[in-house]
Order: sequence, then structure tokens, then C-alpha cells
Amino acid sequence: MCKFPAKNKEHAYKSFTVKQNNLQAEMFALVPFNKRIVFAPHCMRNVSVCTAVDNGGYYVCAECGGCKINAISKLVKQLNYKALYVAKGGRTIEKIIEKKKPEAIVGIACFFEGDQAFRVLKDMCIALQFVSLTKDGCTATDTDLIKVEKILKQTN
Ligand code: SF4
Repeated sequence: MCKFPAKNKEHAYKSFTVKQNNLQAEMFALVPFNKRIVFAPHCMRNVSVCTAVDNGGYYVCAECGGCKINAISKLVKQLNYKALYVAKGGRTIEKIIEKKKPEAIVGIACFFEGDQAFRVLKDMCIALQFVSLTKDGCTATDTDLIKVEKILKQTN
């Protein structure tokens, strides 16, 4: 997941993802919760306390309370989403999409990965809503939980 994209291109990635989020918001809202999946990046975990189960390509959050994925996991269950994956990388995400066939995805990632995700999913009829990291890097990353919760709850 962590590819150190060129910082000078971040503005372009940001503009593209904001535009795509707006374009896909309505289609996303029409998809029932149980046909949506969520990807959060493993770099958001608090590795010093994390008790998530390592499933190879992704972690399953154990809701230890050590990072914001705790609240995301609880809300995903409460809303009856298909699943939350704390993903280790893009190839795993592709495999999960092929296997689980979601109709909508909420993805939390850096702007570069958000840009890539919109381009990859554009021909697959899967509505994507992207939430950027507010602090990127390869460890101890962060996102805006209020924004994530707002998107998770979106319905028509
Ligand atoms: S809340 Fe989940 S992902 Fe975050 S540190 Fe705890 S077990 Fe790991």
C-alpha cells in the first residue's frame, strides 16, 4: 500500500478523488449496506497494542480500542456491512473484490491510492467512496473519523 507517491502530484490526486467522490455519491447511496465492503489500511493500526487477527493479506480488527479502526469496525457491524478488511496491499484488495463481489466500497487510503482505486474500479460498476488519510506514511497513519462515519452511513 505504501508507495511513496510524488508529493508534487498530490494536488492532482486530490482534485481527481474529490471529483470522483461527488460523481459516485448517488450511486453509492443506492447500494444496501450488506452489499458494501470497507478497506482500511493496515498502517492505521497501533502496532504496539494491536490484537487484530492476521489473515495473510489483511487483518481482521479485534476492536482492542488502540486506533480509529475500532470505531469503524463497530459501525460497520452495526450497519450490517458485508465486511471490513484492514488490508496490507493492493493485490489483496483486488482478490477480495473478485471473491466478495461488492456493489460498493468505502476506501480509506492516501490520495495516490484513492486515485488508483477510482481508475481501476471505473469499468467494474462498483461505486467507490474514498476517504483520505490525514497523516500518511507507512506507520501510525490517521484519517478523519467523522468523515468516514458520515460516508459509511450514506443512504439514498
Ligand atoms: S482497534 Fe483493531 S486495528 Fe486498531 S489497533 Fe486495535 S485491533 Fe488493531
